[in-house]
Amino acid sequence: MMPRSVLSRCARLTQQVPLESARSTKHGVHRGMSSVTIPPPACMLRPLEAPYRYLFGPGPSNVPPRILAAGGRPIIGHMHSEMFGIMNDIKKGIQYAFQTSNNMTLAMSGSGHTAMECAVFNIVEPGESVLVAINGIWGERVAEIAERMGAKVHTLFKTPGGHFTNAEIEQVLAKHKPVLFFLTHGESSAGLVHPVDGVGDICHKHNCLLLVDSVASLGAAPLLMDQQNIDILYTGSQKALNAPPGTAPISFSERACHKMFNRKTKPVSYLLDMTHLSNYWGNDGKPVRIYHHTGPVSGFFALRESLAILAEMGLENSWSHHTEVAEYLWKGLEDLGLKLFIKDKDLRLPSVTTIAIPEGYDWKELLAYIMKHHQIEFTGGLGPSVGMVLRIGLMGYNCNKANAAMALAALEDALKQCRKSKA
Ligand code: PMP
Repeated sequence: MMPRSVLSRCARLTQQVPLESARSTKHGVHRGMSSVTIPPPACMLRPLEAPYRYLFGPGPSNVPPRILAAGGRPIIGHMHSEMFGIMNDIKKGIQYAFQTSNNMTLAMSGSGHTAMECAVFNIVEPGESVLVAINGIWGERVAEIAERMGAKVHTLFKTPGGHFTNAEIEQVLAKHKPVLFFLTHGESSAGLVHPVDGVGDICHKHNCLLLVDSVASLGAAPLLMDQQNIDILYTGSQKALNAPPGTAPISFSERACHKMFNRKTKPVSYLLDMTHLSNYWGNDGKPVRIYHHTGPVSGFFALRESLAILAEMGLENSWSHHTEVAEYLWKGLEDLGLKLFIKDKDLRLPSVTTIAIPEGYDWKELLAYIMKHHQIEFTGGLGPSVGMVLRIGLMGYNCNKANAAMALAALEDALKQCRKSKA
């Protein structure tokens, strides 16, 4: 607490500061408020308003009070020793969540896309071949990112909901000999969880690194980075980890480190250069961490708390809990006469369920009705799945049967109210 005398002196000083000042000086004019031509916008003079919504779409998910409270703690410096301690905890939390002992484990300052770009920019050099599995939007994104940085991009393609066999993957790997193969574990645009077993071995046999996106699946569906021989794995903070959006865990295997730290060219992005980031996260073995960028301190507090909750719950419990709630939701949807988009139960993503748009309905009208009357967010498809599916996400904090029942009741109501007359 500041002493009362100091507080009153501060108050007097504040009152003495002139509100308007346009003084001439030797070097010109100090422009005060009188030279301001754009007035403060009226919206900025009103208090912030953000409604409470049930975020039952594919993310972000609602954030539990414990994580919100962690993010609301007083800021400390991004280079303070306590902050480095928190970053060390985050690294351990990610190693647990990813099931990896990789030293090169950290969180990106940015959303899932930041991790996606970091992986591609650091591993691939211009002119090298990359193979991207596209069965929804995320493969499309990675193909575009790789193309922009000058890679030769080859694709394996399926329409949303499709998946690739290991034989199909191996055939194309052998043909194109890429340095990197990208696969989405939880394809949130289609609601599909892709099998990963054996893919890492095939990649290594063909001298290729395996990059896996687990933004929508981490903590909700089993994934074991080391055991499944994944070279680069990333996720996002705002899905089953249910922290606020804006941080993205990522990890690199020894093989991946060997490739990215023996490049001939520098990665196109300074901000995402792993040489700097590995030092910032204390992963490069150097005694001193040097300023690279100002990390999102509050975001890291929140991420630490979300990883702590996952560690307390246990990964296996988290996986089985997501499956149990998803199965309850799937049964309820079928009881409403709806068709699940992914037919094979084993390939359904437990965190994001996709429903084939029912005949006789306008999907946008259904979503708008549910938002207006139930304050619940569901979403439509994304990228290639637009117009094909409705998506319901129940993950992390939101993943429970009461929320599933609420989602089903809202959908039942919307199905009654929004049916189009068949002309
Ligand atoms: N990959 C997958 C599977 C996703 O679901 C998302 C987000 N919907 C992303 C990547 C991109 O993450 P972000 O929006 O956090 O950049």
